Amino acid sequence: MQSVETITALRAQVKAWRDHKYTVAFVPTMGNLHEGHLSLVKKASELADKVVVSIFVNPLQFDDKEDLSAYPRTVKADIQMLSSVGCDVIFTPSVDTMYPKGMTSHTHISVPDMDDKLCGLRRPGHFDGVATVVTKLLNIVQADIAVFGEKDYQQLLLIKHLVRDLNLPIDIVGGPTFRDESGLAMSSRNQYLSEKQRKQAAGLHQTLLAVKQNIERGEQDFSALQQDACNKLKLLGLAAEYVDIRRANDLGQAISGDKDLRILAAVRLGKARLIDNIACHLA
Ligand code: AMP
Repeated sequence: MQSVETITALRAQVKAWRDHKYTVAFVPTMGNLHEGHLSLVKKASELADKVVVSIFVNPLQFDDKEDLSAYPRTVKADIQMLSSVGCDVIFTPSVDTMYPKGMTSHTHISVPDMDDKLCGLRRPGHFDGVATVVTKLLNIVQADIAVFGEKDYQQLLLIKHLVRDLNLPIDIVGGPTFRDESGLAMSSRNQYLSEKQRKQAAGLHQTLLAVKQNIERGEQDFSALQQDACNKLKLLGLAAEYVDIRRANDLGQAISGDKDLRILAAVRLGKARLIDNIACHLA
């Protein structure tokens, strides 16, 4: 496994692979890797001959509420974890490499209809930052496939829309959410939680499962289900930003009769903002 920091070195490596007719998969991350990230890398290595993983904490996607400098950076440990799961190259660009002229005058990419709802409403500018850095990284790596986690479902759809709208020649593949034994979705932000809060946080997934069960039993008053779930979360000590039942394909407001749904939520617990979502398919 090789570690590269510059765009030139990365492109030279990818070109050498291309000369050998190897296919390439790409997994972008912000580092502080856990089993969830590794599951995406394993998936990528099943789908292509060579795998690039990027580690870049993107300043452009942080809003005021989350402290960029406090984001956990564990590159040494990350590199060690990646060596056992089929990663060929780790790309760790600096902020200067990604934004040589700074960020304010940089071209911004925004994806309408995706960044104005759910997490987009609560984190202004966040998805523009994600769309911009992902477009840059996809152009830098020029892989055949990129793998993103369903854990960030709105982000996954946003990237699918962006790739479609800009005709980028890459397939975007989603990987399932990796959870710990309590059901809590793995996340770098879980580090902000105390032991007690981790136990409380497991209630988020349980609450989403309860909403799903109610829908599968025939409950169609989505607004009442959402409100009820927020109340339950509050009793568990989790402050809900939203619990929302949406159409899975475009995150439009779901209505009675829709079959392919996604139940999404964001909560605040102590210093952490946690998100989760599950699928709900009706026959
Ligand atoms: P991040 O480092 O948080 O930007 O995440 C990098 C990638 O890992 C994104 O595509 C996330 O959706 C994905 N990811 C994060 N947590 C998980 C998880 N628990 N299971 C699967 N994928 C995840």
